[in-house]
Amino acid sequence: MLDFIVILKYINVMKKKQIQPEYIERGVRYMMCQCGEYVSVGDNAIGVKCSKEVNRNIMTMFPELHEEKTKRKSTGRPVGWHWMSEFVDKDGNVFHKGKEQPKLFGSLPATKVQPKKKTKRRTEEQILIAIHKKKRALLKKAKLSKN
Ligand SMILES: [Zn+2]
Repeated sequence: MLDFIVILKYINVMKKKQIQPEYIERGVRYMMCQCGEYVSVGDNAIGVKCSKEVNRNIMTMFPELHEEKTKRKSTGRPVGWHWMSEFVDKDGNVFHKGKEQPKLFGSLPATKVQPKKKTKRRTEEQILIAIHKKKRALLKKAKLSKN
């Protein structure tokens, strides 16, 4: 049992001592991020995360932000296409209310999809602001439901 505690303590020390590789160039200290990218850091930094990593962390903390993005990417079809009485994709596949109609394949022109307004890629700051707003909205909701 005692050995076990000692090992645990040892692991903790090792974790803390896991220092990321670094170098100094022209007086600027650079430290390697988990992904292998070097980022300039201050003298007291013991670890660093590049902006990519920070974004990734935000994504894991707020998966709904991530979902939004992947959904947009995955289907080239308009929202609710499977509810449409007839939808023809760009390859000529014909669907009636989402059911494929192989007999009609290639016999109809592709359904014109209204081009979506291009959404600008959000900056980190905008993402953080969005998160902040969301939090505030949730707080408001919580307060309202109390009354
Ligand atoms: Zn990184």
